[in-house]
Amino acid sequence: MYGYNGKILRVNLKEKSFKVEDLNLDMAKKYIGGRGLGTKILTDEVDANVEPLSSENKFIVVAGPLTGTPTPTGGRYMVVTKSPLSGTVASSNSGGYWGAELKAAGYDVIIVEEKAESPVYINIDDDSIEIKDADFLWGKTVSETTKALEQIYPEKTKVLTIGPGGENLSKMAAVMNDIDRAAGRSGVGAVMGSKNLKAITVKGTGKVKIHDEAKLKEVFPKAVKKIRENGVTGEGLPTFGTAVLVNIINENGAFPTDNFQKAFFDKAEDISGETLADKYLVKKTACYRCPIACGRHCKVGDLEAGGPEYETIWAFGADCGVSDLEAVIKANYWCNEMGIDTISVGATIAAAMELYQKGYIKDEEVDGTPLEFGNSEAVIEWTKKIGRADGLGAKMAEGSHRLAKSYGAEDLSMSVKKLELPAYDPRAIQGQGLQYATSNRGGCHVRGYLISPEILGLPEKLDKFSLEGKAQWAKIFQDLTASIDSLGLCLFTSFALGPEDYADLYNAVCGTDHTAETILEAGDRIWNIEKLFNLEAGIDKKQDKLPKRLLEEPIPDGPSKGWTHKLDELLPEYYEVRGWDKEGVPTKDKLKQLDI
Ligand code: SF4
Repeated sequence: MYGYNGKILRVNLKEKSFKVEDLNLDMAKKYIGGRGLGTKILTDEVDANVEPLSSENKFIVVAGPLTGTPTPTGGRYMVVTKSPLSGTVASSNSGGYWGAELKAAGYDVIIVEEKAESPVYINIDDDSIEIKDADFLWGKTVSETTKALEQIYPEKTKVLTIGPGGENLSKMAAVMNDIDRAAGRSGVGAVMGSKNLKAITVKGTGKVKIHDEAKLKEVFPKAVKKIRENGVTGEGLPTFGTAVLVNIINENGAFPTDNFQKAFFDKAEDISGETLADKYLVKKTACYRCPIACGRHCKVGDLEAGGPEYETIWAFGADCGVSDLEAVIKANYWCNEMGIDTISVGATIAAAMELYQKGYIKDEEVDGTPLEFGNSEAVIEWTKKIGRADGLGAKMAEGSHRLAKSYGAEDLSMSVKKLELPAYDPRAIQGQGLQYATSNRGGCHVRGYLISPEILGLPEKLDKFSLEGKAQWAKIFQDLTASIDSLGLCLFTSFALGPEDYADLYNAVCGTDHTAETILEAGDRIWNIEKLFNLEAGIDKKQDKLPKRLLEEPIPDGPSKGWTHKLDELLPEYYEVRGWDKEGVPTKDKLKQLDI
């Protein structure tokens, strides 16, 4: 057994019991691992129409076959469940060190079932599994919980936990590990909270077996060389972190501002990666076995914490009209402490600001902290209120779609399938807009990062306004991303590596015989089972859409002035390229071709 440990840990919280099962290796390899394998387990074991926060939903944590191996960035794990925010399949991944430790402990998958009567945590120490009382942790922030558990298990134990956001069942709650790494999107932390599961600690002494050490010694340096020689992974990300994108995206007129009312922020320089590095950066950090090291630690006064990432800077910065980087760093800190997703939280505050601007939210609701665009205090205070479900913060904790709908102004939520859009205006980047609309988990940039060809010119430069070939590009990026997520590697490697490199790494570790084509085909298979889950859950073509504003309101100024998104022209071609019918349903032939 190579790459995989061959073991599933199945925990029943109601009975406080567990068992260790054999992993079906053929099935694991067919869906690779991580996101693919987790989705296969979800579709096999969970009714797509389950209420996401009920005890019938399952909380599935899956490592990839390359997680815990010496491959570059091989430390990621995936949380798979049905999303309480979007009602879609949810798969949210995170880096840090927890995933590699799970593999060292000897497991590929943890499936958590049912709900504990009172708060618990699971402790995994190789073969020793305990389900322990967590009353003393309930209510604690992410860093408080992590430190408390590290005191109980001082040796090498890694902590995955939820914060108050997950306990309060915020639909924007994240699963956090290593204090500041987040499986952030889709509200997966609320599923953990709904099961009264506060944390999973893990320690392992094992080592993942490698099929062909000599081959790995050949392909590993080749991959690292490509990563180091690439402008984005070798220079941009290590020097400035993901925040290097602030000025780049703004100069392209694609930096959503004031809840996407504009796409150019005239104060972008104040919140740029360069300014962050200049004034607030204290150290750079890296996840397990990562040669890129895009992580940042910043300090404002006494407060020092991981981040902020580009998306976070945008969400609390330009999207809320805020140019105060200190406020952004503080809001990011509170998101990590509360265990809530920075993108969805920032974007929901931005939607609330527009609701306030347009008179839907009244002064008497804002508790002395006006939701005005540009109000830096507001982004900090409302982040804390969302985390604690305090006052209007409880309504905001449901996400921007439900918030805006409650005021009869659904169109002011800039989301797809109820998941808040990230930091790229689709009107200025047409392929990315198509990708948002068709993403199986909703408005997400890491389901297919077309920013790479449309803005950064990798692997080749595409005209960001052109529609030509974008359907095909969207499919390729979505499929490749599904495979990378499933292998257990970081998506950022894809700036430098292609499907053939992932095939080489996978083959060396697991003894598989993948090629570039079969890596993409595996991604296609994963994409299609995700789609089938969504269709079963009633999420169909009607939800493959973008917010009305992006289709009808031209960008008012800046380098992309005058553009709207042309989804109607792109969507039919996308369905065709996918081998789906006109309603966006996979055809029998397509499923047969993929052996689904
Ligand atoms: S590139 Fe950044 S996010 Fe990805 S593994 Fe490395 S440090 Fe982690």
